[in-house]
Amino acid sequence: MDYVGQIIRPPSEANSIILQVTVGCSHNKCTFCGAYKEKRFSIKEFSTIAADLDFAARYCQRQHKLFLADGDALIIPYPRLLTIFQEIREKLPWVRRISLYASARSIRSKSVEQLQQLKALGLDRVYLGLESGCDNVLKDVTKGESTANMIAAAKIVNSAGLFLSITVLLGLAGLSGSREHAVKSAEALNLMQPRQIAALTYMPLANTSLGKQFLAGDFVLPGPEDILVELQTLVEHIETAAQFHANHASNYLPITGRLPRDRHKIIAAIEQAQSDTRQLVPESLRRL
Ligand code: SF4
Repeated sequence: MDYVGQIIRPPSEANSIILQVTVGCSHNKCTFCGAYKEKRFSIKEFSTIAADLDFAARYCQRQHKLFLADGDALIIPYPRLLTIFQEIREKLPWVRRISLYASARSIRSKSVEQLQQLKALGLDRVYLGLESGCDNVLKDVTKGESTANMIAAAKIVNSAGLFLSITVLLGLAGLSGSREHAVKSAEALNLMQPRQIAALTYMPLANTSLGKQFLAGDFVLPGPEDILVELQTLVEHIETAAQFHANHASNYLPITGRLPRDRHKIIAAIEQAQSDTRQLVPESLRRL
């Protein structure tokens, strides 16, 4: 397979065929994100994608899921995207589920009908980074989107009948904005109605501008116990029915459950960790 640079995929796509259709992220300006800093965004040539599909047709017959990398595959103009999906269907008929990362902008660039057509060809899961439900945080980190735009994008995905998975980033508002970040993120999630919510924990990277602000002392990172309070506040305010995962390698306390059903169980686990911080993942073992 032709892979340009490091390939990033959600943990739940560990067993998927990874087909890289774009290089990098079309936005690539978020101040906390170092994922695609070294990559200049481009859409790969169809001939390269077709050759990868020929390879997968020979060697990936036991993999029933496929993930379209890199950062924002849905930004590909619809006619080109349709051709890629048709090619996947034709060459890999055993693939049952296609997933991709999307931005609010790339979702809004497609109609519900277009997404439904892609769904008919196998598109199943859309991963969207909300990061925060606070407009001032989104602005500070140069996300390039407002909460209202994120909510509008979620409605399009839901109307097309696709599985929507949304990421929020604990700690992104710093210590002073922690509570508001948790409450407003929950409020946005309640309106976005995702099927899955993933809460990751922000880790400063030296090659990013927010990482540099942190190193200069201009961004106060919440400590592990502050993050537990933020996580608890988030969980307390989520009313929408969704699978909730806070078990990413960046998290201090691995948590998973169904909200709102498991709220009390999750909060009890957080409170237990607050009273015995030895349960927390040590700093040295946390990863992005
Ligand atoms: S967080 Fe997402 S949208 Fe922002 S630069 Fe990174 S990959 Fe691109």
